[in-house]
Amino acid sequence: MLEKGLLKVLLKLQDTQMSIERLEKAQKKLKEEESRLRREFSKLEEEEAQTLLVIKNIESQIKQIKEEISRCKEGIKRAESRLNMVRKAQDYKALLREKAKYEDSIIKLSQDLKNLETEKKERESAYAKEKKVFERRYREIKEELEYITLEQENISKKLKEVKGQEQRLRESIPSQVLMEYEKLKDHVGLPVIVSVVSFGACGGCGMTLPATLYSKVVSGQIINCPNCGRWVYYET
Ligand SMILES: [Zn+2]
Repeated sequence: MLEKGLLKVLLKLQDTQMSIERLEKAQKKLKEEESRLRREFSKLEEEEAQTLLVIKNIESQIKQIKEEISRCKEGIKRAESRLNMVRKAQDYKALLREKAKYEDSIIKLSQDLKNLETEKKERESAYAKEKKVFERRYREIKEELEYITLEQENISKKLKEVKGQEQRLRESIPSQVLMEYEKLKDHVGLPVIVSVVSFGACGGCGMTLPATLYSKVVSGQIINCPNCGRWVYYET
């Protein structure tokens, strides 16, 4: 049976422990939120890099096609200058065929070039729009992370304070009582000490106390709830 004189101190201890629980929960939530935001940030960066890579690939394809076109043009020039020098009709025809082959290639390559340039333009303008969205989200995430850092600092400070209070309270409680309290806490969790609520029910589990126990509580004693085991007191 618990000495009533200790009740106030124990209730204070319980309050501090509940604060610690709340603060640690908040701390965990912030940490989760922080890693969620960091993951989102790197995902955005990856997406952006991917978009830029696609544009870069198109650019290098354009460059290659332009080079090929100028090679074909040189080939045409070469064929034309040799046309003036050949004597045999057979060679002449062969050169004409060579020239025509280059010309066909140029037509095909020019079409490819046009398509790629259109695609590049489309992707660039899509990216310009996307970039604004990206940048806004980057800014938002950075702001949210700054806020989280501040919150984390506040909570750490508060936790340190409350843990100090808890330690001081523990030191003022006889070890036997403290042991009993902690054992019960391990078993039922917080709160360990509850007041009796309307119609004589345990404030922890809600079971109505037997009349004999209830009258003990009302008379100022602290009892164990026969159902959940918590300490029950009467709040005056
Ligand atoms: Zn109970």
